[in-house]
Amino acid sequence: MSSIDPSPVQEYNCLDCGACCGCYPIFASESDADREPKIKDEGILVENFLKTDRQAYRLYPLPFLKACPFLAETKLCRIYETRPEVCRKFEVGSEQCIRARARLGIK
Ligand code: SF4
Ligand code: SF4
Repeated sequence: MSSIDPSPVQEYNCLDCGACCGCYPIFASESDADREPKIKDEGILVENFLKTDRQAYRLYPLPFLKACPFLAETKLCRIYETRPEVCRKFEVGSEQCIRARARLGIK
């Protein structure tokens, strides 16, 4: 019997990566910030005229930061259980995932 090809999800290991958290602007909503108050402390409020239902706080880029402020040195998310909705929807193995890994030189 032939072996089953690994799915894209199996090819990438988020636990030793974090590339997407350092490559893209991350926006959190007010409801994200209500769920996780640290977003209010460590994010930057989006200017009123740019604010939308989905974009109330900017987590990256911030001055002097190379990645989202919640990305730990271990490459793990410090607020994983209460992370913003946009992070929950980000798909491992997606085009954006592959592009982020390539940008940071992660195979
Ligand atoms: S870039 Fe892809 S593999 Fe890396 S942490 Fe993000 S989703 Fe996971
Ligand atoms: S909140 Fe967590 S999962 Fe979302 S970008 Fe920041 S470190 Fe990554």
